Amino acid sequence: MTHQQAGQKNSGLIGFESAELELPDISRRKFALGAAAVVGLAALPNEAFASIPKFQAKPLAKPARFLAFDNLHTGETIKVTYWEKGQYIKGALSEINHILRDHRNNEVKRIDKALLDQLFVLHNKLGSRKAFQVISGYRSPKSNAMMHDRSRGVAKKSMHIEGRAIDIRLQDAALSNVHKAALAMNAGGVGYYPSSQFVHVDTGKVRHWGGA
Ligand SMILES: [Zn+2]
Repeated sequence: MTHQQAGQKNSGLIGFESAELELPDISRRKFALGAAAVVGLAALPNEAFASIPKFQAKPLAKPARFLAFDNLHTGETIKVTYWEKGQYIKGALSEINHILRDHRNNEVKRIDKALLDQLFVLHNKLGSRKAFQVISGYRSPKSNAMMHDRSRGVAKKSMHIEGRAIDIRLQDAALSNVHKAALAMNAGGVGYYPSSQFVHVDTGKVRHWGGA
């Protein structure tokens, strides 16, 4: 099944469940191979911001890093400075972990700090003044397995299970621009789900699917 077919299949479903679908394992492998062939996985720098190449580090040089989230499932909203004076702020990270929890069973997972930095850079690149609307953050293995059983669109080994992936959109940026900006960062995985109106971003290998 191609990702386009997957998108069409998914678009027939209703509400957030349809928006949480992930790429099937088979397509993921196909695209992972494609991405590897195009960008060359060995080209990534192994430095301070390992998942974010040097040319992207500019926003990270700012004195503080903040993030705002709007969880569409729970209605919760936060805006926090999560990094300042050279270090991550524990309390802010806890707040982020909490709002990005598995809303089905309230299980909280530590979210990868590299993912937060990717989102901060993405937000800067887009010049957005809005909070990230969160369609899916952390997913417990149980929730993910349940979703996987219900739909071929949900990956069995989703990076959401590791707290290393998020599905987002922004109210003041076109989804296609969010997608382009995420791709241009060349950091981690990027999935494009226009029919469900979200972009998936993760801290895995550089790869992409669901778009041109
Ligand atoms: Zn996702």
